[in-house]
Amino acid sequence: MQLVVLGSGGFLPIPRAGCHCRICKSARQNGWPIKRHSPAIYLKEIKGLFDTPEDINDTLNFNQIDVVENIFYTHWHPDHTLGFRVVEILQENEFFKNKKKPINVYIPAYDYNNLKKFIPGLWYFETKGYITIKKLTETGVRIKGVQVKPLRLRGVTFSAYLLQQDKKKILLCPDHAKELPLKDEFREADLLIMNMGYFENNLKGAKQLPFRHRIRQFTSFDKDNLRIIKALKPRLTVFNHIEDKYNRTNTDLKKLEKVYRHFNVRFSVDGMKIKI
Ligand SMILES: [Zn+2]
Ligand SMILES: [Zn+2]
Repeated sequence: MQLVVLGSGGFLPIPRAGCHCRICKSARQNGWPIKRHSPAIYLKEIKGLFDTPEDINDTLNFNQIDVVENIFYTHWHPDHTLGFRVVEILQENEFFKNKKKPINVYIPAYDYNNLKKFIPGLWYFETKGYITIKKLTETGVRIKGVQVKPLRLRGVTFSAYLLQQDKKKILLCPDHAKELPLKDEFREADLLIMNMGYFENNLKGAKQLPFRHRIRQFTSFDKDNLRIIKALKPRLTVFNHIEDKYNRTNTDLKKLEKVYRHFNVRFSVDGMKIKI
């Protein structure tokens, strides 16, 4: 399976307007790979997009991806959905017009009503014939030999996804990894993608994280990401959803890859390609 990390950023893109932290300043001056788009992942085999953040049109362009046949949502939060109008952009492409089928939009059944409440525009686009909205049951769906199965996170209606093709297994948890249930079937995946949590030590001299980042709902790198890696033993872990507030430069992240090399971890950048 081949994946592209379209956007490696977190719930706010880097640089973000009005922010003068060292990460945003550097991203403004130097561009990629310090600059990061919002979180989205593309799986080539099924021409499948996981989430549609607001800058998804840019990232598809940047990565020269012309075709999307399937979209899967992890949850309704704005940083994962607000680029949903990309379906109109793709389907109104003159070059392909009249040759296109509706894009399949998959929503886990337990999250369907939330998407309908917060992203009603999707249902408008269904009436225009751009998309077909499908409820995903817990067994998931098989597309071109790839099984895509939603995994409900604990205590919420958010999802991770398990992708399986032949003996290859990818666990995709691009946000809220803190609530990932540690089930046997997730163990020893060829690849785990998960959101990078905040650091308990937010580096000396940096502004402390707001208290709300330390409360229950936010993933901690030290307490959650490492705990999950130790429990599930993936062959490779790639971090996405990287926030400027967590105050790590790309050089810091490279150092961390060395510190945790026994776990085989990588911190993604926009456009990172992974072949499993
Ligand atoms: Zn998010
Ligand atoms: Zn910033």
